[in-house]
Amino acid sequence: PKPGVYPYLSGLNPAQHKAVTADPAVPLQILAGPGSGKTRVLTSRVAYLVQHHKLFPHQITAVTFTNKAANEMRKRLEKLLGPKLAGGLVLGTFHATCVRFLRRYGGLVDIPNNFAIADADDCKKIVAGLIKARAEHLEGANISLKDRAVLSDISKAKSRGETADAMAIRAMNEPSASTSTTAVIAEIYGEYEASLRESNSLDFDDLLVYGLKLFTGSPGILASCHHILVDEFQDTNVIQYELMKCFAKAHQGVTIVGDPDQSVYGWRSAEVENLNRMKKDFTGVKAIYLEQNYRSTGSILSAASTLITQDRDRPPKSLYTSHPKSTTVNLKTFSTPVIEASFIATEIKRMIAYSGDVLNHGDFAILLRYNALSRVIESALQKDGIPNRIVGGHKFFDRLEVKDLLAYLQLAENPNFTPAFIRVVNTPKRAIGDKSVADLVAAAKRAKISPMELCERMTDGDPLPEGIKAGLKNKLASFVGIVRKLRRAAQKGSSVADLLKMVVDKTDYENYLKTTQQDAEMRLENVKELISFSVTIAEEQQRQANADQDNPSFVPASSAAMEAYVMSQVKEEKPDLAVRPLFRRRSSSVSTSVAAGSKAAGKGKTAAKGKGKKGKMREEDIFEVLSSDEEAEKGKAAKKREATRNRADSELSGEESKEGTAANLNPLSYFLQTSMLSTDTENQNQEDQASVPKVTISTVHAAKGLEWPVVFIPAVESGTFPFYRCVEPAEVAEERRLLYVAMTRAQLFLTMSHCQFRMAGGDEKDRSVSEFIALAQKTAPTHFSADLPDIEESGRKTISSMLERPVPDESGMKDKIMKHVRAAPPLSTWDAPEARDSSFNRFARREVTKATRAA
Ligand code: ATP
Ligand code: MG
Repeated sequence: PKPGVYPYLSGLNPAQHKAVTADPAVPLQILAGPGSGKTRVLTSRVAYLVQHHKLFPHQITAVTFTNKAANEMRKRLEKLLGPKLAGGLVLGTFHATCVRFLRRYGGLVDIPNNFAIADADDCKKIVAGLIKARAEHLEGANISLKDRAVLSDISKAKSRGETADAMAIRAMNEPSASTSTTAVIAEIYGEYEASLRESNSLDFDDLLVYGLKLFTGSPGILASCHHILVDEFQDTNVIQYELMKCFAKAHQGVTIVGDPDQSVYGWRSAEVENLNRMKKDFTGVKAIYLEQNYRSTGSILSAASTLITQDRDRPPKSLYTSHPKSTTVNLKTFSTPVIEASFIATEIKRMIAYSGDVLNHGDFAILLRYNALSRVIESALQKDGIPNRIVGGHKFFDRLEVKDLLAYLQLAENPNFTPAFIRVVNTPKRAIGDKSVADLVAAAKRAKISPMELCERMTDGDPLPEGIKAGLKNKLASFVGIVRKLRRAAQKGSSVADLLKMVVDKTDYENYLKTTQQDAEMRLENVKELISFSVTIAEEQQRQANADQDNPSFVPASSAAMEAYVMSQVKEEKPDLAVRPLFRRRSSSVSTSVAAGSKAAGKGKTAAKGKGKKGKMREEDIFEVLSSDEEAEKGKAAKKREATRNRADSELSGEESKEGTAANLNPLSYFLQTSMLSTDTENQNQEDQASVPKVTISTVHAAKGLEWPVVFIPAVESGTFPFYRCVEPAEVAEERRLLYVAMTRAQLFLTMSHCQFRMAGGDEKDRSVSEFIALAQKTAPTHFSADLPDIEESGRKTISSMLERPVPDESGMKDKIMKHVRAAPPLSTWDAPEARDSSFNRFARREVTKATRAA
């Protein structure tokens, strides 16, 4: 390529350049340590595939580990390619990508396209209910089950692709002791699945399970995918790996990047083994290694590498940096977490003051082994007025008020979603007791309809079902009225902000919060935040819809063209397939639709080739592909589906089926889909928008792939690193990698600390420094120091050279520093007793002496 044509190539080192420009027909693995530019290479490769290899954006699927990472990648690609092209890429997590396809083609795997996504909380409630129903049996068999543990077993089974039946069979083959437990869990698993299907919902794992089912059953859907790229590949599980294979199937274009040293999701069934699987499943896999770290100072890199090399089973890997060595990693001992937390707050202020305001709050991150550690830290920062945000902590979408309002919207969208019904039928209070709710659910079950529908029918004058009293019916009237009103407004295309305001208004929600919640004010703020979030999402939908419009051959605005294109691909693959539409207008008969379907399939090529030209096919037709011999068998199922569909249709007062593209989803569906997905791991979009820079408090897991100039890792101590429950060698190794991930997030300054006491389960426990760090300190004592990092002259030099920031104006700085020194807490505050009077105090005293002299 001519220099200057692809500006992003010029900054790359030779290995990175090779990786970006490698032949797209050869499956590629890019394996390298933290900060070596893997994500940057992946992003550049996407741009290069579009610009040099002339792939259409919609022919490229890029998968990231979190929604946040997807947003960042999109932003960067918008810069490289322009918003139009970048908008057309299929870019997101595996979950989000599957949702996008399921919304549209879910019918092919018996998933109605208005499905709800059940969040962890909903799922836990279902499992808890199933355990409770077996209480007697379990007690008799001396089995104790916890909802969380059962759910995690189910989730693990799903990510291995194990069904409830398969689990039951496995249980039979197990030695007797554990047989009974596994058998019970398998039973619960089966009922749990039935319950989700009944309420027309999928849990997070299902999104992948059904996505995979869809793609393996109808590979034509992915025929337009020419290249799939996966970031953080070391953390994919088996089902995600299989998904990747589906995307790569048509054209064998596949690029993955990963780092086995950073695999930290073994507990969630991720398998590093996928790297080897890929070598077997694809021919001629090429590997490229990157060895230069661009993120961190030499000191941080050496300290981190001392840690990771403690793992003896790990193949050696080289990683170097041309950055200065700079300040040694800071290691501190404190007596208690409160002191530790206020130290961190003071350090943040000190660093900002000493940097001459070149550093700001957004440059700092505090990384934690688990969520609960954030409480003390948060309050210390708040006390000092340091703006902060919590990632991966108590999530925005987990908050009571947010869940209540979402539940109303979910019910309006999908009346079958019973968890939402149970949540809000008596919220705000309508004097409907738990017993009445249980009666309603039971009566609905008998009538084989959803509780919501039952209530609606009762309100419409259907005879009262057995066991339901007229009084209850009257109490339900206002509730049914609200849900119906919302549904009608949503169908008319009302904005989500208006729908939310409608819920708040009609339920007198503000008053409800004020009378029932102590922190009503704060919760009202969250309600407001949710409304502004919905506005952001609406804008995003508009943007995506515009992009879809420009890409008529992939999930396009014109579904006719898309269907036609997909059908033509399917036909080419399997000419003997019988093709007929699944969901039709009630007026059209099956036979005519078959004809229309094949005709459209024939036209598809023209439609696809003459990009943008709409096929003649009807927008609302979604096709089902059946092989002829399976036809009869599946015909029955299809009939049943149709019946359900018609019912859903009538509930939706004859509205057409909703489809998965941004352009075709109504604002409510799009909003629900986006907000339910963001409950998955991290992501608080609405906070990202805030213009004030904030200190990030995050779990290490949620910090993967990210970087900050200054990183604190508190609680690097026994019981925390490794986490006390991790005792098996493999688990301990994963804990070590987790600490390695945490350390390698830091660019310039890294402070690790531990306390001598920390509460655990209500007791104060003696703690010592993490065994990983104790060992690292022993093998390489010079890599760690108790002295505070130097932000004076040399520190400032590093900041401006590594972060490419201006050197601060030295004249005004003295005052700032003095102001800080005067305001800093008394000298004896920090450090555990035996460490007292050392580093910080020496340092502070020196400052005071200097200042006094100057005065
Ligand atoms: P991780 O394993 O933590 O995900 P990574 O390998 O994905 O790390 P990146 O996040 O892509 O690494 O890059 C780390 C930092 O180094 C980023 O700030 C990136 O912009 C920068 N970087 C990468 N390559 C270069 C380069 N050739 N020149 C300058 N900076 C670079
Ligand atoms: Mg990365």
